[in-house]
Parts: sequence; structure tokens; C-alpha cells
Amino acid sequence: MKLIIKCKDCRNEIDSPYKASTRINIVQKFGEEFEIKCPACNSTNTYEVDDIRAVDYSFGELVQNRIAVFLVIMAVTFVLGFFLIGTGVGIITSIVSALIAIILFKNNNSGKNLTFNKHKVKGRMSNVGA
Ligand SMILES: [Zn+2]
Repeated sequence: MKLIIKCKDCRNEIDSPYKASTRINIVQKFGEEFEIKCPACNSTNTYEVDDIRAVDYSFGELVQNRIAVFLVIMAVTFVLGFFLIGTGVGIITSIVSALIAIILFKNNNSGKNLTFNKHKVKGRMSNVGA
């Protein structure tokens, strides 16, 4: 899951300094507000945890993040296909398996993003005792 914050001044996407599977977890660990300096326009703003959004990884980022996993999957399926049936089948199986793995990762990731974006912190924590 990739967490970003849009800069209040230039709308640049800044990587969230805090990583967690839900906003509630971030509040519990780091508090509700934090300051970030935007690398694009250099302005420092205060953001709330609800400003953090979960977005999908692009295809390239996904492959980059999981490159070790994909290589292992490709190697294993290639070796299996190669020994069981032959080189051509080995290559095809390894490519197909890697593609399936990428799609599964992507779906899994999108599900987590939906959960993250659905649960806002505001009105749940800040109104306590108000
Ligand atoms: Zn900015």
C-alpha cells in the first residue's frame, strides 16, 4: 500500500512519513496532526491523518517493490516447466505465473486501499470529550 498526502499549496503528491494499515493506527502511534515539508515547493504545512490517502501502486512500482518475489516465482516455475515438459513451456509458465502474481498483488493492494480510505479519523477521535 502506498500512502500519499497532497501538498496544500502545489498539489504535489508527497509520500506519507507514516505507514500503517489504517488511519486509526497512525493516530494511535503518531497523533492526529503532523507537519510535512513539500519537496516540490518547499512549503511546510500541517496535515491531519485524514489527509493521508491510500493509492494504488503503478504497474512499474509494483514490479519494483516485489522484484525479488517475482524473480523467485519466475525461476521456480521456469525450472518446473523446463524439467517437466521443456524449455518453451518453462518460459511460458514462468511469464504467466509472474503476470498472475502481479495481478493478485494489485487486487490485494486495492482492497487494502479501499479499507484505508473508508475509515476516516475525524469525528471519531477528535470529538471525544468535546
Ligand atoms: Zn508543494
